Amino acid sequence: MHESFTIRDVSVHRFARRWAAILVPKVGWVRFRLSRPLPDQCGMARFTMDRCGRWHVSFTAPQPVMLRALTGTVVGIDLGVAAAVTLSDGRQFRAPVMTPGEAQRLRRLERRKARQQKRSNRRERTKHSIARLHARQADRRKDFIEQTSTRLVREHDLIALENLNVRGMLASARGTVEQPGTNVRQKAGLNRAISQQGWSMLRRRIKDKAATCGVRVIAVDPCRTSQTCNACGHVDPASRESQARFRCTGCGHAAHADINAALNILAAGLAVTGRGGTAGSSGPDEASTLADAA
Ligand SMILES: [Zn+2]
Repeated sequence: MHESFTIRDVSVHRFARRWAAILVPKVGWVRFRLSRPLPDQCGMARFTMDRCGRWHVSFTAPQPVMLRALTGTVVGIDLGVAAAVTLSDGRQFRAPVMTPGEAQRLRRLERRKARQQKRSNRRERTKHSIARLHARQADRRKDFIEQTSTRLVREHDLIALENLNVRGMLASARGTVEQPGTNVRQKAGLNRAISQQGWSMLRRRIKDKAATCGVRVIAVDPCRTSQTCNACGHVDPASRESQARFRCTGCGHAAHADINAALNILAAGLAVTGRGGTAGSSGPDEASTLADAA
């Protein structure tokens, strides 16, 4: 399973461009490949084994300072159930999901595993293949989170995002009694991806990086950001026609649902800073925003 341990007094020695060794008590020097530069000062070292049996070592070190120039740009970010990051300027970044080919291979492997005898060598090999597929997917999500958080912090002086309620999001995809969730099966899969990859991870990386370069991050109350019309401020759950479409029952304003939400999130964030002005008035009236300063 997932094993891990920590070493406090770290001795590391780099012997090639991409290779270093670390002294592990009772084991000796262990070589490892450098996936990123070693920090100047290695605090503690943490060893973890991932799902497919690979060991990783990571060092505690302060987040390196990000260099950026003021851009004068502010942004609201909607983290959607459809595994997409939607910005108030209309751009959208999709979190990686399995390719159809990988999903098919996974289904085939799962079926094979179900047929195989418990504890047999063949079954162990199948389990290992399944774990490798999942691990590759996890690596991709991690890359996506690193790249997206760097980009968002580099481009914006202020970032407003939702104080995410993962539990609520999972519940909403299952649907309610009156309004059963559409594509529940498909969404259940997406939800698994999201809870694993964790929008919370993305939020944390944005905050970590923002804190090194003075970018302000404001977490706003997610309540009603998806039900409020960004054009007129009218609040009605029925305005959200579908996962993707928003049509205001008050003024008829139609928009992409996630962009409408991102604009509301931005407005709520600006309202906190007092830079609201025009934008603040059209945002959700929940001023109970949580400002966790950068
Ligand atoms: Zn409206």
